[in-house]
Amino acid sequence: MGTPERKESLRYLFDRVVGPMGYKFTPDGVLVDELLEAEVKLEQDFGAPYCPCQMRPGNRAEDMQICCPCIPFHREHFDTMRRCWCGLFVHKDVSDPDSLPQFPPDEG
Ligand code: SF4
Repeated sequence: MGTPERKESLRYLFDRVVGPMGYKFTPDGVLVDELLEAEVKLEQDFGAPYCPCQMRPGNRAEDMQICCPCIPFHREHFDTMRRCWCGLFVHKDVSDPDSLPQFPPDEG
């Protein structure tokens, strides 16, 4: 499967996974496109659509916690920010993602 097709399949799959958790893709379509492209590349290189904005720890158990969408592993923190780290997903009622605060997990 080529990169454009894989991007679309991830878009379809992720939309169905994050929706029941109260999230949606950010309304910033350019960011969505860039991040999905980066995830497809990570998947091609490392075997899974890892988070484009996090370093992989290098062991499987921890790596899986930054496999997109990683919301279940970081739910409390993301719910406080109303977005995920990369900003690929935001709470369903967010229309201005640039206005959302970002802070490290230990400040949540
Ligand atoms: S921070 Fe966002 S983009 Fe990164 S893996 Fe988690 S859900 Fe995906």
